[in-house]
Amino acid sequence: MLGCIFCKIAAGERPATIYYRDDRCIAFQDNRAQAPVHALVIPRKHISSLNEAGPEDAELLGHLLSVAARTAQERGVHRSGFRVVINTNPEAGQTVYHLHLHVLGGRTMDWPPG
Ligand code: 5GP
Ligand code: ZN
Repeated sequence: MLGCIFCKIAAGERPATIYYRDDRCIAFQDNRAQAPVHALVIPRKHISSLNEAGPEDAELLGHLLSVAARTAQERGVHRSGFRVVINTNPEAGQTVYHLHLHVLGGRTMDWPPG
């Protein structure tokens, strides 16, 4: 989608530290990391938020979760612990309207989240 920064990263038109890529998604480092490990997993398909994901995206969503787990493993936080977060719409703090999974780890986290 024109003007979407995550579509640009997926297309290689905007620099990012890429951890993983395949034909359906990419994982890369968040440029304002909130934890020692902070990756974002995004579909190549532009979906604005989880609200816009339909039943036809169910398999893709499963794949994104699987890549999130793989990323946690590759970044070395799968045993200590990690959190996967999808912020959806303003009250949840969504700022980029291209669906993304945050993968956070490498420190102790609070619950409930702020
Ligand atoms: P949200 O607030 O929408 O859940 O998360 C958006 C995330 O994208 C934020 O953690 C923010 O730091 C990250 N982000 C925003 N713009 C860029 C960018 O251009 N490059 C990278 N690597 N991360 C970005
Ligand atoms: Zn996009």
